[in-house]
Amino acid sequence: MAPYWANRSCDPFGARDEACVKGTYLQYAVQVESVSDITRTVQFAGSRNLRLVIRNTGHDYFGKSTGAGAIGLWMHKMNGFDAIDFNSSYYNGKAVRVAAGALSADTTAKAHQHGLAIVGGNCPSVGLAGGYTQGGGLGPLTSRYGLAADQVLEWNVVTVNGTLVKATPEQNTQLYWALSGGGGGTFGVVVSMTVKAYPEERTASANLTFSSAGVPAQTFFDILETFHSCLPTLSKAGGTAIYNIQQTGFALIPATLPGQGKDSLDSMLDPVITKLKSFNITYVYASIEANTYFDAYEKMNPPSETSYFQIGGRVLPQHALNDNYGQLMQSLKDILDYGAGIGGLSYHVPESGDGRFNNSVNPRLRSGALSLTIGTVWDDINWTLDIANQELMTEVLIPAVDRLDPTQRTSYLNEADFREQQWQEVFYGESYRKLLHVKQMYDFQNLLWGRTAVGSETWLERNDGKLCRSF
Ligand SMILES: Cc1cc2nc3c(=O)[nH]c(=O)nc-3n(C[C@H](O)[C@H](O)[C@H](O)COP(=O)(O)OP(=O)(O)OC[C@H]3O[C@@H](n4cnc5c(N)ncnc54)[C@H](O)[C@@H]3O)c2cc1C
Repeated sequence: MAPYWANRSCDPFGARDEACVKGTYLQYAVQVESVSDITRTVQFAGSRNLRLVIRNTGHDYFGKSTGAGAIGLWMHKMNGFDAIDFNSSYYNGKAVRVAAGALSADTTAKAHQHGLAIVGGNCPSVGLAGGYTQGGGLGPLTSRYGLAADQVLEWNVVTVNGTLVKATPEQNTQLYWALSGGGGGTFGVVVSMTVKAYPEERTASANLTFSSAGVPAQTFFDILETFHSCLPTLSKAGGTAIYNIQQTGFALIPATLPGQGKDSLDSMLDPVITKLKSFNITYVYASIEANTYFDAYEKMNPPSETSYFQIGGRVLPQHALNDNYGQLMQSLKDILDYGAGIGGLSYHVPESGDGRFNNSVNPRLRSGALSLTIGTVWDDINWTLDIANQELMTEVLIPAVDRLDPTQRTSYLNEADFREQQWQEVFYGESYRKLLHVKQMYDFQNLLWGRTAVGSETWLERNDGKLCRSF
């Protein structure tokens, strides 16, 4: 998913006579089929001073699911699923238990067969119990039920000393707190996870596309400004909008409004349609009201291709957008002018029942309103251009967004610039200090390492990708 981290080792786009080396890839991987596969691998790696990497789907944009010289735990084949009634002092109700390798869309489909919905990603192929939920987890149901990490009732985890433990709000509470939002691949090896599930309900969904061909830039951004000013109403009503902006046009794919009808969604997006009509611009708008969230997701989410972008991202709070949409448009324009693309996800995390979330999600992600992802297209042949695009991301494109909220730079730790200098503050916010404490409690030798993961300061990465102790 993130070709840069393969460092052109055995690159099919390279010259035919280039040596095929493992390079930055894992040296060996254990195809995990049982808990004992994990405990034995963890103990083996620990006793031999081997770098240990947990790999699920390989979606990670930071190269955290591979590593030079490492032995990998490949979780993909562990894909069990159970719909259960969960009874505890902190939650009584429907729940879903998934094994570590379960994919978001597969779990959504299986839950649907039980009349249930779960908080999955927009992307069907992210690993539900892996980096997605452990890193926070944004998706079409975020404004309705909260972040994916907010849904977790319990984790089953193998710690680096090879012990299987349960982490819940009542048991191993610090580990539970850290795993729910503090990022994947660093606190222990998750074997399975149990999350809240909700009764399926009618869901409205809409797609909108229009091209920028022949449209003056001012008009294009005028329409986009109207679109963005509709989003707070949608988010507050429990909806999300997921969209892409390119130099060539705009695609809303899709807006989702669970629990409400098509008329409500149509009226929330009506100002954009009215504006398109007033400028006589051709557009395609389709909206539906499905009986279930699953049906809406299936019908309105176009197939997702593998990622071929180098990305960076920022999360903006609503107060940075209020009365400031003109500045947002200027920032988006500056980014598009460099040929980069922009992805947006608008959301509003609802308050929990008791007003508190006992997890480590960056509080500024929780209070965010818009997650922007910027992508430069990966070039398979031109490595120099790819490196130049990384610098462009850090030095030009991300700062263009920072003009909106210079004092509180925040990124969603799963969708951010891997070159971020102040990643502890920007990715984890005020949770970082306590997260580091939990890391030291559960992995004081720092056997598990990932770039920008909690505790990763203890190792330095050499040019060949191998690690040296930094202190
Ligand atoms: C195409 C694409 C679309 C995406 N769409 C969304 C989206 O809609 N919403 C969203 O919130 N994010 C999205 N993301 C970001 C995604 O959530 C992260 O990349 C996430 O880290 C993926 O987790 P994974 O387990 O699938 O991937 P992996 O790359 O396999 O793992 C990611 C991290 O989690 C760790 N990890 C994996 N399994 C375990 C385990 N069992 N125990 C402990 N640690 C583990 C790994 O070591 C690594 O550090 C998307 C990414 C891509 C590439």
